[in-house]
Amino acid sequence: MIRLHVPDALAAGAPVSPSPEQSRYLIAVMRLAIGSEVLLFNGRDGEWRATVVEANKRGCRLTVGAMTRPMVQGPDLDLVVALVKRGRLETIVEKAVELGARRIRLVQTRRTNADRANIGRLHAIATEAAEQTGRLDVPEVVAPEKLDRLLDGWPADRRLMFCDEAGGVPPALAALTGADGGPWAVLIGPEGGFDPQEGERLRALPFVTSVSLGPRILRADTAAIAALTIWQAAMGDWLTGS
Ligand code: SAM
Repeated sequence: MIRLHVPDALAAGAPVSPSPEQSRYLIAVMRLAIGSEVLLFNGRDGEWRATVVEANKRGCRLTVGAMTRPMVQGPDLDLVVALVKRGRLETIVEKAVELGARRIRLVQTRRTNADRANIGRLHAIATEAAEQTGRLDVPEVVAPEKLDRLLDGWPADRRLMFCDEAGGVPPALAALTGADGGPWAVLIGPEGGFDPQEGERLRALPFVTSVSLGPRILRADTAAIAALTIWQAAMGDWLTGS
């Protein structure tokens, strides 16, 4: 069944007016008619069945029926990723949503040569990935900030798995075995890798666990997928009520 993310509060009997793009998709592309059902989620209230009650050229309206799943969330795992080329960044966002990252933070490092990203487009990619993958939330994509500033304000209770291509650090799975649960983030560098001073600073920080993803240098998109997968394998990928 079609799943849609909507901003509205969801409760039995509530009316929902999908956006013009969503209405076009439901009525013109998927050819839903009055009486057709879809699934809705908003990141807060779980997942609900809803019925098309009005459909015309101006859009459509839905009425919410019964809850199909209560609200649950995956582990508190962020992906922190340096700005990389647009296509790869879009792949990283899509795959991070599929793999359960709760938030995606973009960073500028010394070797990134871009300072902006199209957050609206990345949010749309994250939303579509959440809709197709069965998630009940859409991860926030946070606008780029400088790595140094991010580290200056880093919360002491969140561990950071630094994917360190320089080598001389333990394999990720070994480094995570027996590690504390609780909030974590995974850090992936840009195409040019981390500057030596950035690497030095990261390795010395008390909240950082430096890890290797193996003896080959991976592209940033491959590294992000591998790192999130290894983290999930080591730490668990459980859905819990929020
Ligand atoms: N140009 C860099 C070099 O040749 O050393 C490679 C950078 S790599 C394309 C992008 C990012 O992916 C790295 O900064 C790192 O975070 C991650 N990465 C890639 N391969 C890795 C590995 N074998 N171990 C740990 N991290 C890796």
